Amino acid sequence: MTRDGLSAAAIAHRAYRLRVAVVGSLFILGLLVMLLASLRPLRDALIAHFSRPVAAVLFQLAPSSPFLLIPLPMLWLERRSARRFRAPCPNCGRSVLAKWRYVLETNLCPFCGSAAITEE
Ligand SMILES: [Zn+2]
Repeated sequence: MTRDGLSAAAIAHRAYRLRVAVVGSLFILGLLVMLLASLRPLRDALIAHFSRPVAAVLFQLAPSSPFLLIPLPMLWLERRSARRFRAPCPNCGRSVLAKWRYVLETNLCPFCGSAAITEE
């Protein structure tokens, strides 16, 4: 791995994470809008199917349920990002991208301590 290769991978990785953050924020905003639009029909459906106290509890819980799913796409994107932007240490093979500043300063792998930048 060269110094320039690591810098380029770090910049590409940062741009990718920014795009993911923007798309993720738009996704959450979309969820919120859909949720607000469906609150009244949801409450009516719950009251029609459950007793009033149960419907009240479910109505309190329901709006948070879509947000419980958010970690799943985030995990998937993180794994995809790790596969796409790899900067492996030549000795131990672990990606040093997360600690790229340290690697550029010291030329050392943060995991095994051997030289991570092999050529200039
Ligand atoms: Zn290493």
